[in-house]
Amino acid sequence: MQNRWNDEEAARFEGDLGLRVYTSRLLGQDKSLVLHGGGNTSVKIREPDIFGKETDILYVKGSGWDLETIAEAGFSPVRLDHLIDLARLPALSDPQMVNELRTHMTDAGAPTPSVEAILHAIIPYKYVDHTHADAVIAVTNTREGRQRIEEIYGDDVVVIPYIMPGFDLARLCAERFAAEAHDGTIGMILMNHGVFSFGPDARTAYERMIQLVSRAEDYLASRRAWHVTMGPSREETPVDKPLRLEIAALRLEASRLAGFPLLLATHRDRDCLAFARRDDLPRITQQGPATPDHVIRTKRLPLLGRDLKAYAEAYRAYFEEHAPRARAALTMLDPAPRVILDAELGLVTLGRSARETDIVADIYRHTMEIILRAESLGGYQALPAGDIFDVEYWDLEQAKLRKSGPPPRFAGEVALVTGAASGIGKACVKALLDEGAAVVGLDINPDIQQAVDHAAFLGLVCDVTDEQQLRESLENAVRRFGGLDMLVLNAGAFPASRPITELDTAHWHKVFRLNLDANLALLRESHPLLKLSPGKGRVVVVGSKNVAAPGPGAAAYSASKAALNQLARIAALEWAGDGIRINTVHPDAVFDTGIWSEEVLASRARHYGISVEEYKTKNLLKTEITSRDVAALVTAMLGPLFAKTTGAQLPIDGGNERII
Ligand code: ZN
Repeated sequence: MQNRWNDEEAARFEGDLGLRVYTSRLLGQDKSLVLHGGGNTSVKIREPDIFGKETDILYVKGSGWDLETIAEAGFSPVRLDHLIDLARLPALSDPQMVNELRTHMTDAGAPTPSVEAILHAIIPYKYVDHTHADAVIAVTNTREGRQRIEEIYGDDVVVIPYIMPGFDLARLCAERFAAEAHDGTIGMILMNHGVFSFGPDARTAYERMIQLVSRAEDYLASRRAWHVTMGPSREETPVDKPLRLEIAALRLEASRLAGFPLLLATHRDRDCLAFARRDDLPRITQQGPATPDHVIRTKRLPLLGRDLKAYAEAYRAYFEEHAPRARAALTMLDPAPRVILDAELGLVTLGRSARETDIVADIYRHTMEIILRAESLGGYQALPAGDIFDVEYWDLEQAKLRKSGPPPRFAGEVALVTGAASGIGKACVKALLDEGAAVVGLDINPDIQQAVDHAAFLGLVCDVTDEQQLRESLENAVRRFGGLDMLVLNAGAFPASRPITELDTAHWHKVFRLNLDANLALLRESHPLLKLSPGKGRVVVVGSKNVAAPGPGAAAYSASKAALNQLARIAALEWAGDGIRINTVHPDAVFDTGIWSEEVLASRARHYGISVEEYKTKNLLKTEITSRDVAALVTAMLGPLFAKTTGAQLPIDGGNERII
């Protein structure tokens, strides 16, 4: 385990809280110590209150912050003496505890303190670090976990048996620490949970954490349980066949179970496939997660194979078995899995956003290693189901769910936009991302890959006139997000003005290939996926004012857009039975797009004998239409407002006499 402390870097952080930020970030950089908001740290600082009276304050990590990127504002200041008094209470419910933490902060704007704040308070050292280190979890999740921990650490740590995070854990730690700690104590091991280290300064606490975790790693290595083989089949993955329909069908079924659309991501690298193909999967994966910290995101168990119905039944039974002993009335969470292990699809993760599916994948990759290390050590053993249930249905988590409000309009849904690197296409990508969709952008321009920096965006270089490239793009899109719900046909060419007398057939065909043929191919290839959309498939075609009101010199453009318009109307007729709706927007004079070069703009203005500025607002409302305006209309047509409309055509042109 690497010690990342660096004197030069550390010198850039000022004061006790500054150094707290520095070593918290060092811990956060190591994914084998903390993952996605896991772990927490604190520092105790004496400072004057508003009356000038010296007061001891515990600065503890606030919820919603990640150690890797935490700043001083991420630490909540709580009165230390109050926390220590709380630890002496015989009992305190978790909601009461959170209330006490929030009402005893000295900064009303600070985030809610970590639920482990009392635990940090009772450890009588200035700096306290807490992680859920993989190596320690692997050792504690074995049958002889307790003896092994004693073998590794001897008298250097206080060992705490598993108990759910919250007040009871803090109280137990306070008692054990008071009874067992001595001058040589450098840490505390929480069985099936993690590690605490502490010290008089930031560096000591951090380096003790590194030392403690390294000892667990060395122990695993000495028993050939550190470097593990994911599975017997480490050979190259077999030649790929298209999987998109199977994947989309699996996602549809999972979304139906959940009661809302879910994204589904497949992870088919060698490690994931090898693990998913192990013979002993039922035994090693069906006990429970490696740490209760993971259960909120991964659910208690992964699904092996694709029998979602059986999974849902088992989940219901698990709920009914454990719910009666809970103190409060509980509502069952949706019974859809968040992790699936499948011999062909590898590791499959589900969630309401791309970030969620990515986090679940990160967590499960660590879980796979932890399980196999524990197996090499003598047998993985997770906590009993009842303990896991208590965390899954923890009243604090239930409260969080109640407070979280409605999800964004397109949460869990996937959109594909062509011509997405610029203009209307790029504006549609941004509008859809803002509404919570995962978005695949296709463009022939390689800039598409970096067009938007967002976890839910996948930019693919694709010449849409090449059907093979289109199919590959759909395949990649579905492997990344699980399906296709919305399609925006936007890619198109608007060539320079050319009268019919000078219009050669090759040019005519070229324009038709992009403006018409490519859209036919994409509609045809997308149809089976749109049919499998949990929220019913939707298509918006970006047409043109020229369909209804063509201009001279634009024969190839106007004729190809008119043909596309007719294609969309027929698709609306043919696909209504599948619940798929197709509507068209007809923009005019949107000048911030790729097709409007200075040259084209000047030539059209010249044609009408007006200035470029006049040309830009040449409509009844005398208004300029931007890509963002068109994207807002496209997004609305993909949403519930147009749920009962198909085959419609809407102009967005500021009003045009020839169309009205
Ligand atoms: Zn913890």
